[in-house]
Amino acid sequence: MRTKIVAGNWKMNKTATETASLLTELSGMLPDTGARVMVAPTFVNLAEAVRLMVNSKIEVVGQNMHFEESGAFTGEISAAMLKDIGVEAVILGHSERRAYFGEDDALLAKKVAQAIAQGMEVIFCFGEELEERKSGKHFEVVSAQLKNALFALPGEAWKQIILAYEPVWAIGTGETASPEQAQEMHAHIRAVITEKYGDDIAANCSVLYGGSVKPGNAAEIFSKPDVDGGLIGGASLKADDFMAIVEAAS
Ligand code: 13P
Repeated sequence: MRTKIVAGNWKMNKTATETASLLTELSGMLPDTGARVMVAPTFVNLAEAVRLMVNSKIEVVGQNMHFEESGAFTGEISAAMLKDIGVEAVILGHSERRAYFGEDDALLAKKVAQAIAQGMEVIFCFGEELEERKSGKHFEVVSAQLKNALFALPGEAWKQIILAYEPVWAIGTGETASPEQAQEMHAHIRAVITEKYGDDIAANCSVLYGGSVKPGNAAEIFSKPDVDGGLIGGASLKADDFMAIVEAAS
């Protein structure tokens, strides 16, 4: 059966010094939990983060990677580089990558395929924009994002996929999807996967919710049957808040 996961996406926050102190705080406070707990510091701090978390249950993951194995791609990071320092999972498709760095479904399909081929787990992010929800296109948009980036994968690869539904209008805005809106979309996501890959794969895939998750709303969102935890931005930058959210998933 699928596992609960709480992952903190630190985005472009925390220096090396701040990373070390937040990680030390987090590992000291980590409750006894059946949930997987992940953090995604920025690239330059990943190796040190892995070293610091070697005896902790906290998993260190990347925020992005390139779709080629290696080569002339100035400023980019490969799957092999991540794996070599002990990073086994990577976030791909975040809405900020899509909006500010021009990442589209076709590019993301290549990134996902490369990460899977290199044996990494992928936290694949997707979700509709405000206008798309207002015009009632949200289910359609989300289905297309899944199909375009993930549906060329063989069923076997889904063991390495974690989904993160993040409605763009709820990211960093303080506005969350209601627990009912999250459940409705997560059930839709599972139905779309079932249609292509069957019940087993759909039932075993963890689908996280992201977008203004906080200690005050996490328990209610996570209590929904198709919500398997969260991908947390702002609230993952403070140890107390992040650990309260981990507790809510436990
Ligand atoms: P916030 O929790 O700050 O809304 O960010 C969510 C997010 O983008 C996680 O990837």
